[in-house]
Amino acid sequence: MDVLAKILAKNGLPPSFEVRPDDPTGFILPFAVDGIAMCEGIKRSRECRFTFVEGAEMQAIALQDEIDIVAMYAGMFWLLCRLASSAAASGVFPAMDGGNVPEWRPDISRSLRLPRDLLEEGKPFDWQAESLTWQIHPERQMLFVAILSVLFRFVTYHELGHIWNDHGLRRKGRAGVCVDAVGSGRPDAERSIASQAREIIADSFALNRTIQVLDRELQLKADLEMTKILRQKLLPTREAVAEFVLTLVFLYFRVSDLWNWVQEARDTLTHPPSPFRAKALAAALHEHRHLDISQASADLAVRKAVVGGEALVSVILSIYPNPNWMSSISGPGDDAHFRRIYDEIPRWHGPLSNA
Ligand SMILES: [Zn+2]
Repeated sequence: MDVLAKILAKNGLPPSFEVRPDDPTGFILPFAVDGIAMCEGIKRSRECRFTFVEGAEMQAIALQDEIDIVAMYAGMFWLLCRLASSAAASGVFPAMDGGNVPEWRPDISRSLRLPRDLLEEGKPFDWQAESLTWQIHPERQMLFVAILSVLFRFVTYHELGHIWNDHGLRRKGRAGVCVDAVGSGRPDAERSIASQAREIIADSFALNRTIQVLDRELQLKADLEMTKILRQKLLPTREAVAEFVLTLVFLYFRVSDLWNWVQEARDTLTHPPSPFRAKALAAALHEHRHLDISQASADLAVRKAVVGGEALVSVILSIYPNPNWMSSISGPGDDAHFRRIYDEIPRWHGPLSNA
């Protein structure tokens, strides 16, 4: 038995998903190749492998055992495809030709449901059927690929962020620890703060890498027709690249939010509330000013991403916006919680020297 299959089985995870060129998603093969390259590209002494696994949930995990593994459930990929496809089908990003006239018809009953339910979490994505209305427009296809790439890379780099910082190996000092698995129980306050600090670190790692890789890709593939159009219409500057990635990450947090934190004490959760994660990434962009953008540009990118992420989710899903999403975690108790997490971060930051 292959070492990857053995480790998945040992940790009670589903087996690898068979990636076939004729898979109905149309795109799982190139993204599997991308995931493998991303895992190889972090260049550490430990072997790191990427795999899709069977399972319909919107989930991805990092695992540190004999080797390091990033596993994305097929259900996560399907949902990301459907989100990108819904964006391409709608009129958002109107500079890209072929979209419908942007139309917003919010529906109250839809607005009361979770975005991931509206995106039919668990249902396999069918490229032919779901892209029928817009696949004849090359620029909408380009938009689909651009959005899906950012979403896929952010999720994959988040898991790689756990691996890069040895979050599996540090925990209890033993191998075989899975990060981001569901059903890991309710931690006490100390473990909750540590777990949330790890999430903030992984998110920041993912934002940084996703922005850098997109910028580098646009430079390396500058001669391709697709790159020329993306440059001209969507991503003309470094500032636009940073803003595009941050906006889509906010969209992802908005869509993945389970709202299970609303009535809960903040230090009983494994993951920070989604708006908390978005706020932390806004702070990271301010602090790191990725691609050397100016402070004023970082400020502007954050403000545009807050509004843009909410506008995208409203138009794509035909729901009412929730302008209080970010500010819902801005009470005094939340600020104190934020500080506890930030104080914890140094304990989980950076690779272990003996890993
Ligand atoms: Zn995580």
